[in-house]
Amino acid sequence: MTVQQSKRRPLSRYLKDFKHSQTHCAHCHKLLDRITLVRRGEIVNKIAISRLDTLMDETEWQHEQQEWMALCRFCGDLHCKEHSDYFDIIGFKQYLFEQTEMSHGTVREYVVRLRRLGNHLDENNISHTLLQEGFIDENLEPWLPSTSTNNYRIALRKYAQFKTQMPVPVARNIVLNSTSDIY
Ligand SMILES: [Zn+2]
Repeated sequence: MTVQQSKRRPLSRYLKDFKHSQTHCAHCHKLLDRITLVRRGEIVNKIAISRLDTLMDETEWQHEQQEWMALCRFCGDLHCKEHSDYFDIIGFKQYLFEQTEMSHGTVREYVVRLRRLGNHLDENNISHTLLQEGFIDENLEPWLPSTSTNNYRIALRKYAQFKTQMPVPVARNIVLNSTSDIY
């Protein structure tokens, strides 16, 4: 008769402990207030988590845990939901965090502005080629929204700066799967 070597618990239990053990967002390192759990780039909500009843021992969980990360709401939303692909928003956000001295609040503001601008350009069917040649901010100037124009202009200039500093686009899945290497 074999003795069961280690205790098996449902995945949801491990995740509950995991959630409580996370103090900072895996992406922006902000102190976590409301936590979003993400598996392989997809948000898994509370209800879905409670239904994860696969039994695992500690070793299996250690393996499974690598697929999970805890994000703040802002990063969860930014990284896991569908957005217009007009701008490389995720790359831009990382650039602001890593290469500038901006506070979290300011980074958010820039990111939100640029996302809005991306949506606006999408809605107006502005060609993506304007982003590929010459100066992005000059190319897009005529298409900026008529309200808060200056705010959009400032965000766009910052984005142009980011693009000239980082000519190679940041691959989305690399960002999602190996945060620990990047930060
Ligand atoms: Zn975050």
